[in-house]
Amino acid sequence: MTPPLVNSAAARDIANTLHPYTDLKLHQEVGPMVISRGEGVRVWDENGKGYIESVAGLWCAALGFSNERLVQAATNQMRKLPFYHAFTAKSHEPMIDLAEMLIQRAPVPMSKAFFANSGSEANDTAIKMVWYFNNAVGRPKKKKIIGRIKGYHGITLAAASLTGLPANHRSFDVPLPGFLHTMAPHYYHAGLPGESEEEFATRCADELEKLILAEDPDTVAAMWAEPIMGAGGVILPPKGYFEKIQAVLRKYDVLLVADEVICGFWRTGNYWGSTTLNVQPDILTCAKALSSSFLPISAVLVNERVFQGLADESHKIGTFGHGYTYSGHPVPAAVAVETLKIYDETRIGDHVGDVGPYMQAELRRRFANHPLVGEVRGVGLIGAVELVADKATHKNFDPAHKVGARLVKLTEANGVIGRALPGDALAFSPPLIITRAEIDEMLDAVGKSLDELA
Ligand code: PLP
Repeated sequence: MTPPLVNSAAARDIANTLHPYTDLKLHQEVGPMVISRGEGVRVWDENGKGYIESVAGLWCAALGFSNERLVQAATNQMRKLPFYHAFTAKSHEPMIDLAEMLIQRAPVPMSKAFFANSGSEANDTAIKMVWYFNNAVGRPKKKKIIGRIKGYHGITLAAASLTGLPANHRSFDVPLPGFLHTMAPHYYHAGLPGESEEEFATRCADELEKLILAEDPDTVAAMWAEPIMGAGGVILPPKGYFEKIQAVLRKYDVLLVADEVICGFWRTGNYWGSTTLNVQPDILTCAKALSSSFLPISAVLVNERVFQGLADESHKIGTFGHGYTYSGHPVPAAVAVETLKIYDETRIGDHVGDVGPYMQAELRRRFANHPLVGEVRGVGLIGAVELVADKATHKNFDPAHKVGARLVKLTEANGVIGRALPGDALAFSPPLIITRAEIDEMLDAVGKSLDELA
């Protein structure tokens, strides 16, 4: 690796930038990949090399890396009203329109939408809402929050506590007290010999019930779940999982929060992952594809029961003392409104209904029998190819070998930016606008890279 040229973008990046989710020491030695432009499902680096973005950036650039309607929506809104806030009952049309559109499109009846800037903030907000709600209804002890091992909900203090991944806990002194984790519903790794998927789902629900009973149900407030776990490995639950989990939660009056930050807006083949996986949440969080990531915005939807609790408590106190300066910022809100209109008008769901099953079939046809591949999984336009050291026992490679990271280096050389998840799962979550021909091109490059790695 030749060191970056003096005063190049890479050298200035090394000198001045502390990167998220990066080996900071390694970055000082090898430098960044500087991306300078994007179009459709592709981005180009500063040297002019183009790549298909197989994960839509961070599972988020749903309409790809160029869209004139979104540019116009942002520009028009900046000219008309570049900022106003939503504190003390101030409002503006982009936020009103967006709240109405989300409530109309929610997977289950929802009452109100609250806005924040990121998925982490949406989840942090929802945690505080759960606590506020339980104070409102006279259950001040009912505050513990259950996440899942391998679940990902973001990195603010509470969201990181809820997350179930070691890299987000180790050396950060989280999880905070009061955050618990139940098992990941990954049949491929956790299923016992001879156990059916249905039996495995029952065992997951039994584990959850045991945890709630051990903690005392009067102290457990809510459980968080991504319909499909994304960053933890694209893990689809076994058949019947959410029905069984929800029966346990109802029994102990524990609220269910669906984290739709990745799964929302057609990613899984339906408008919401909750519909695909039969989840009936009390609260829903979403972000990313909400604005196709052209600007940061996230939302928390709450049902009528939760809203009534929040309303009662805020009236007693005199204010709902929570909100960001940029909650419902008019420019990202206008971009989100336009994004949702584009999803409707271009019938993006029908497109995902065509290319999603195609991508799933091609992932399996091309890679299921590859000597390095243990499991191919996914639905709609989200999937993963998990690499294993031993196909018979499903044993993963020693993390020290960095097999996933090595594969990503190879895919980059072959023109695809990829993302390796914990456990050496290569993720697929391309922009929803991807075509069959672009899927073929992406998977040709991944196949070549896998062969080079073998
Ligand atoms: N929830 C899920 C399911 C996510 O995948 C992510 C980010 O990838 C988050 C929450 C956090 O979102 P953000 O990075 O916008 O804070």
